Amino acid sequence: MIDGKTKILGVIGDPIEHTFSPAMHNAGLKALDLNYIYLPFHVKEEKLRECIEGAKAIGIRGLNVTIPHKTNVIKHLDEVDQVASMIGAVNTIQFNYNEFNESSSKDNDINVTTKGFNTDGYGCVRAIEEKTSIKDKKVTITGAGGAARAVAFQIANGGIAELSILNRNLSKAQSLADDLKTNLNGIGIDIDINAYDLDSLKGELSKSDIFIDTTPIGMYPNVDDKPIASADMLHENLLVNDIVYTPMETSLIREAKLANATVVPGYKMLLYQGIRSFEIWLGREAPVDVMEKALLDVLGI
Ligand code: NAP
Repeated sequence: MIDGKTKILGVIGDPIEHTFSPAMHNAGLKALDLNYIYLPFHVKEEKLRECIEGAKAIGIRGLNVTIPHKTNVIKHLDEVDQVASMIGAVNTIQFNYNEFNESSSKDNDINVTTKGFNTDGYGCVRAIEEKTSIKDKKVTITGAGGAARAVAFQIANGGIAELSILNRNLSKAQSLADDLKTNLNGIGIDIDINAYDLDSLKGELSKSDIFIDTTPIGMYPNVDDKPIASADMLHENLLVNDIVYTPMETSLIREAKLANATVVPGYKMLLYQGIRSFEIWLGREAPVDVMEKALLDVLGI
């Protein structure tokens, strides 16, 4: 029931029509009987500043941020958490209203501050850690785009031993590795890079404990594509995480099952990034089972 006390959460992006987040968050809010609603907002790039100012003016409590605003939004925020700052992208904004007094008419009684977080990498690591700890492991990542950045910084902060990044465009892998080395000065991780080709990937995977594919290869409608040639590039001691979630079982996940590897489907990262955002905004544990079921329903699984 929406009434005069209902508080608003939401997601901003362009486009936004295909977002799965409202289903997941509204199910969580309902399960905890919280007087909140989570809405999608279509925000064009040139309206981003006004969007953040407007959100403060109307008392929005929290926002998720999706493509194309994850980097540009930072300049409109008061504070950015350390990991998000290293990644250079924010997907969650917390609005803090100090001394908010609804009966007051004086503007200066309302002191709003905003803080940005990035929960994408957290989502990936939590999904993997349901199956195995990342500590002291050798991790291979394919891709060096926005998702790879979030994942790489989070796992590097989580105590892995070695990180191998393979990307089609080698200079992007180099740039990510350089940023990791600069920001994680003092954390002893071996980082190496390679151009993405099947021979190099096979060599890296044979020595790896965890393989995270952050490329869109295999995403609907190209569902037969995969970043490996076949299951024999994998092994049974490997954990394989494809972050693509449409379809839920990608060609890579199918090959990983043939190799008897441990698999983590991409929807788990989507789920846990949302769980973390929910907990940042509401300061309480999210109902994971309810939110997972809602996400699977809306994904048609
Ligand atoms: P992005 O910034 O565009 O980066 C894509 C990366 O994949 C780039 O490094 C690109 O290489 C590489 N790539 C693309 N097509 C390739 C191909 N055919 N062969 C080899 N490499 C290829 O995209 P993103 O934001 O990182 O997103 C990547 C994927 O992750 C998308 O499918 C997205 O839906 C998914 N995702 C999932 C979640 C989740 O919660 N599960 C969260 C975020 C993203 P180059 O640098 O050489 O172009």
